[in-house]
Amino acid sequence: MNVDWLIVGAGFTGATLSERLASQCNAKVLLVDKRDHIGGNSYDCYNEDGILIHKYGSHTFHTNSQMVWNYLSQFTEWRTYFHQVLTVVDGKKIPVPFNLNSLYALFPPRYAEKLEELLIQHFGFGVKVPILKLRETASGDLSFLAEYVYKKVYYEYTLKHWQLNPQELDRSVTARVPVYISRDNRYFQDTYQGMPKHGYAVLFSRMLRHPNIKLLLNTDYRELLGSIRFKRMIYTGPIDEFFQYKHGTLPYRSLRFDFETINQEYYQEVGTINYPHEYDFTRILEQKHLTGQKASHTTISHVFPQSYDPKVNDPYYPIPREDNRKIYSLYLQEADQIKDKVLFAGRLADYKYYNMDQAVARALTLFKEIASKNI
Ligand SMILES: Cc1cc2nc3c(=O)[nH]c(=O)nc-3n(C[C@H](O)[C@H](O)[C@H](O)COP(=O)(O)OP(=O)(O)OC[C@H]3O[C@@H](n4cnc5c(N)ncnc54)[C@H](O)[C@@H]3O)c2cc1C
Repeated sequence: MNVDWLIVGAGFTGATLSERLASQCNAKVLLVDKRDHIGGNSYDCYNEDGILIHKYGSHTFHTNSQMVWNYLSQFTEWRTYFHQVLTVVDGKKIPVPFNLNSLYALFPPRYAEKLEELLIQHFGFGVKVPILKLRETASGDLSFLAEYVYKKVYYEYTLKHWQLNPQELDRSVTARVPVYISRDNRYFQDTYQGMPKHGYAVLFSRMLRHPNIKLLLNTDYRELLGSIRFKRMIYTGPIDEFFQYKHGTLPYRSLRFDFETINQEYYQEVGTINYPHEYDFTRILEQKHLTGQKASHTTISHVFPQSYDPKVNDPYYPIPREDNRKIYSLYLQEADQIKDKVLFAGRLADYKYYNMDQAVARALTLFKEIASKNI
């Protein structure tokens, strides 16, 4: 078989590049994935109880990029959906990111009122104050609040999720956690938010239905080397695996999802509830809230953080630490030397956590470079 492009990985990165190269450059593409489905980690499917589930954890689409929104809107209509997350603190369910409603859910009304006034006085209304800034600058009651939120909402969740305490992660991770001086309970404030109306798998199948795209599932690309001919390759798998781990392994955190179908319409109030303190799991997910499916029963999943072992589970979260970035930069230098033959992109090849919109944006930018022959 002769193709122009061999593309490894049918997640958002590989699918976007396949679609663009096939439809805009009339290129012949062979898209390969070792899993038995398209969609990468964003894949959804109906389980045996007829509920549409997200196999690799809830995926909510949100973006500020009109370019990404318009691009994907060619392949799907959207169901309006604003994601909400609750966290259990001291036995109470409070909205996160921590906001003014969280104050009232936790504290006696007069104290909550006092904290609200202080927050607005010091920072203004509608502002997101990073928790580190609040900890460093606050005094008196606001200092109490900063320590409370840091410890009860953030610190213990981080320990469970990463098995590291926040000091062992890049400061940038903690710096992103805000206290939001607002009554807005939405988890994201992006301009565009929604769920693909018929699910992610349908969106992907529409992206990939171009006649120039051949799709091969259940296949590790290494099985094909030698038997197919291609001009160039785009690789969206783990970059350390591509180079046979010659500079060491890049560590990840993984997750286990224990699914359970329950004979009631809804199990919980919102799509995600976090449990930073109690139990071994970090969250309970209920995708019916996201998908809007109507059914008399529901499926939930308990999320258990795991260490990553390539033989046992999937790599989910790159671990944001300086020493890991150094290893990655060695692989990047290797990648640079073969860039006329192989291009690397996506969350595993770039060793970087991307939201779906960032993965699509990265792919669209790379496509532009390829099309303008800059790369
Ligand atoms: C638990 C979790 C929840 C998330 N929730 C959200 C969310 O709510 N909103 C959001 O915007 N983003 C979310 N994301 C991020 C989202 O999953 C990523 O942005 C997206 O998956 C990136 O797409 P990708 O194509 O780069 O990688 P992937 O989707 O991981 O695709 C890579 C593909 O490459 C294949 N592959 C790897 N090696 C080989 C090989 N040797 N041969 C053949 N195929 C191979 C893999 O099987 C995989 O299918 C979440 C991520 C996780 C882990």
